[in-house]
Amino acid sequence: MNEFAAGAAYVQGRFVPIGQATISVLDWGFTRSDCTYDVVHVFQGGFFRLDDHLDRFARSMEKRRLAPPEGREAMAETLHRCVALAGLRDAYVAMVALRGRPRIGGSRRPADCDNHFIAYAVPWVDVIPKDVQERGAHLWIASVPRVPDASFDPTVKNYMWGDLTSGLLEAHDHGFDTAILCDAQGFVTEGPGFNVFVVKDGRVLTPDRGSLGGITRRSVLELCAQEGIEAAIAPIPRALLEDADEVFAATTAGGVMPVSRVGTRILGNDRPGPLSRRLKDLYWRRHAEGWHNTPVRYELAVA
Ligand code: PLP
Repeated sequence: MNEFAAGAAYVQGRFVPIGQATISVLDWGFTRSDCTYDVVHVFQGGFFRLDDHLDRFARSMEKRRLAPPEGREAMAETLHRCVALAGLRDAYVAMVALRGRPRIGGSRRPADCDNHFIAYAVPWVDVIPKDVQERGAHLWIASVPRVPDASFDPTVKNYMWGDLTSGLLEAHDHGFDTAILCDAQGFVTEGPGFNVFVVKDGRVLTPDRGSLGGITRRSVLELCAQEGIEAAIAPIPRALLEDADEVFAATTAGGVMPVSRVGTRILGNDRPGPLSRRLKDLYWRRHAEGWHNTPVRYELAVA
């Protein structure tokens, strides 16, 4: 029995089974959410867009002034090793940079903390379960507004999910699968763990604010360009979401995920729309063909 079968993690310079991966309660990554992270998936034995995820992680760390000792190559190798140790062909793979805790007791200065790097690989995760993706997700428009971009840069991937979690709770209270948040000005932003797209009159649109620069979003825009589908990053007023022909969500942990209801509105025939389906199918077909693929180095499976 592989002790890493449930997942493998790298913490404090050591590889451990996922259940043993812990951090200090004094770590500012925990007490202040003073950290950033990224998630890449492994599909059929290969990372998808690994370099793009490492690039975004590097930008996030720079913006938050986090500098763990491991360099990019060491981080990449650590991700390979976590997947290899767990022996996973399809995986959710996270990298996290945390502030750590002050070397000097009682210090309130971020510069006094030793930053550190954590990574882990666990079996595949879908933000929206596959059966729900098939029927089309039911999306609740949350009453809580997304935190303003000026307060926290949403392009830095983060765990400050207070607003997103409130939206999710509200969605579940109303019997919906998940939520979408608008900003205080009434423009559509993103949901708990995904970017959103609306389709209107054959055009595919995704919000220009309040959201992460998603790698799946980028992949969808590339597919649209290749297929000659008109697509743009643009302001999306709430009314446009409510009046859309189709809506779909996009994330590393699930891919292109069609929506069939937005609030009380039923889209099309209460099933995923044709363009959403086409993009979803294409996204996975291209994966199977090796699109942006980096094979996992399974030979690294030694702790
Ligand atoms: N928005 C948020 C808040 C997320 O957490 C995520 C992914 O976890 C996304 C968007 C989608 O980003 P990506 O496609 O890079 O996974």
